Amino acid sequence: GPPNAKKIKLNDENRNSTNGHTNNNKPKISIQDQRRNLPVFDKRNKLLELVKRHKTLIILGETGSGKTTQIPQYIHSARLQENGKIGITQPRRVAAVSIATRVAQEFGHGMTVGDTVGYSVRFDDCTSNKTKIKFMTDGMLLREAMYDRLLMEYTVIILDEAHERTIHTDVLFGIVKKAQKTREDRNQTPLKIIIMSATMDVEHFSQYFNNCQAVYLEGRTYPVNINYTIKPHDDYQTSCVATFFKIHREAPSNHDVLIFLTGQEEIEACAQRIRLLAKDPDVQGPSVKCFTLYAAQPSAQQMSVFQPSPPNTRKVVISTNIAETSITIPGIRYVIDSGMVKARTFHPSTGLELLKVQRISHEQAWQRAGRAGRDSEGHCYRIYTRSQFELMKKSTVPEIRRANLLTVSLQLLALGVHANYFDFLDKPPKEATVAAFEQLQLLGAVDDVNSICLTPVGRKMAKFPLDPRFSKIILAAEQYGCLQEALTVVSLLSTESILINPVTKQAEAQKVRQKFCSAYGDLITLLNIYREFEAVGQNNKRIWCHEHFINMRNILHAREIRNQLEQLCKKCDMGAMSSCGGDLDRLRKCLIMGMFMNVAELVRDHQYITLDKKQSVQFHPSSCLHRQQPHLVLFAEVVQTNKCYLRGLTTIEADWLREIVPDYMKSHSLRFNSS
Ligand code: ADP
Ligand code: MG
Repeated sequence: GPPNAKKIKLNDENRNSTNGHTNNNKPKISIQDQRRNLPVFDKRNKLLELVKRHKTLIILGETGSGKTTQIPQYIHSARLQENGKIGITQPRRVAAVSIATRVAQEFGHGMTVGDTVGYSVRFDDCTSNKTKIKFMTDGMLLREAMYDRLLMEYTVIILDEAHERTIHTDVLFGIVKKAQKTREDRNQTPLKIIIMSATMDVEHFSQYFNNCQAVYLEGRTYPVNINYTIKPHDDYQTSCVATFFKIHREAPSNHDVLIFLTGQEEIEACAQRIRLLAKDPDVQGPSVKCFTLYAAQPSAQQMSVFQPSPPNTRKVVISTNIAETSITIPGIRYVIDSGMVKARTFHPSTGLELLKVQRISHEQAWQRAGRAGRDSEGHCYRIYTRSQFELMKKSTVPEIRRANLLTVSLQLLALGVHANYFDFLDKPPKEATVAAFEQLQLLGAVDDVNSICLTPVGRKMAKFPLDPRFSKIILAAEQYGCLQEALTVVSLLSTESILINPVTKQAEAQKVRQKFCSAYGDLITLLNIYREFEAVGQNNKRIWCHEHFINMRNILHAREIRNQLEQLCKKCDMGAMSSCGGDLDRLRKCLIMGMFMNVAELVRDHQYITLDKKQSVQFHPSSCLHRQQPHLVLFAEVVQTNKCYLRGLTTIEADWLREIVPDYMKSHSLRFNSS
């Protein structure tokens, strides 16, 4: 056994679970039986009674108890939503899409998503006028609120996964509370609010919602055996792989494994190593079927993790924190927890928003461990020591307290509220709101930092479901005559990377893509790739992508986003789809219009500082400008490991900055004149 194992006993009743999705020996049970076996099923009537009686209700329940998939259906079959819709928000698009698909299946009668059950996520609306149960991302509902603050389409709104405290959910708390109140005051159709969550500080939430009622669903969980490492491991990815094979040698083949890592690249690399090693004749154990789960996947692929594995095969799922509470995979007996998560953090002092791999909180660690105890007793291997665990934060800091508030501030203004006066559950830090309003002013969306209304430009910017900096680029493209190119670049920045860099074939990938590389940097390189992709014949696109290590799915997604943005431009009367052709100076100038706050200047050998807050930074090794040293660049993103790295670079010229953003340059002078 493990050296320092600790038993947690969560709740040990109801051992006769028949949740037999992956049990290879048992016959498959029907989807309706699966529904009846969920813990929430016994509470059905009691829940409906509470929903009927209270205008706001908090429902807490163990992950996997059936909250998300069942409660909307119960409400629907009891007709509690009357003539309106039931809207259910999820922090992630993956969850919204896959849960909607599942619920449509559960409805039976060959129902497909988009009928009674639908979903709506950014750039993908799968609903119809028949839709009554609508799963959506919290970001989507927030967008809808911009068009109708009272959310009259809905009679029931369920804000799910409230414990995640995403910035959008946090803002929605205030929006639905206000909508409910206003509808009440005006004698309009009432709005019911349900807050659902795995764990949370009920007091805090209940107080915010005028001391509303909270109800606990007892889950069905089994003890989970916790193992820590004896020594700290720097390379948690390798440790995850090693731990998996240790389990693989010993555990029965129908005991599935779930590994928590931080993002697409890491997950794909780990999957590749496991697939390779599993084929090694020296490795003992059953055959291995490896699944991955992360935001950028198409839903069909995500749904495949629910497939039972064939007999005598071990299923291993490698996932981001989406499998922590949003999605429950049956059959998991072992969890391997890297202890890491990728999160966005904004530092008002440096003006940088970083995408950073960081330690999880205790709450997250317990949720992850709990995934091993759904069907029967399980094990969790933590790739960190007990003392490292003790040092973790108790709970995750709400995103609103650590994110860049630029987008949210703009959205709130479009709703007619200044972020300083909004009824937040937890107020964001003052300096973050100030920074956001300074940026909005620089972008021309407001006249000054205290404005409570948007300028005409600001109103247009709010129409685009994009970071305001990107919306500004699109608006500016009209003026620079490069709308086609700007749309392409912004779309490519709005999706996951289209470049594939397999661990074992990195050099080869770079070599075949060399011909697209532009001396102007990464964004122009991406533009070149996209242009070439469009030029390749329809029948040859797949093979072309394969040959050039381009992720076909992601580039098609970018094309889809591009189409929708083009439609929005037409709606905003933006005139002709201008193209700058080979005159890329026009495009680079246009990019400055939105990204001038992201300028870095060369100070000495490969060392740059940001113009905005004088932060010292370097080029990311993956950038095509990695070996060069242009005087000035725009950057799309900052990644922090041990140093701060810039990604998504574009070279620009000093004269352009002075010409395009003269006011900004008065307060942010360059150290060197153009060389
Ligand atoms: P909760 O919201 O309480 O965490 P859910 O309603 O998401 O619970 O999940 C209830 C059950 O439905 C889980 O046991 C999960 O395994 C199962 N489930 C959800 N989606 C699917 C799917 N696509 N295929 C098979 N089972 C699913
Ligand atoms: Mg759920």
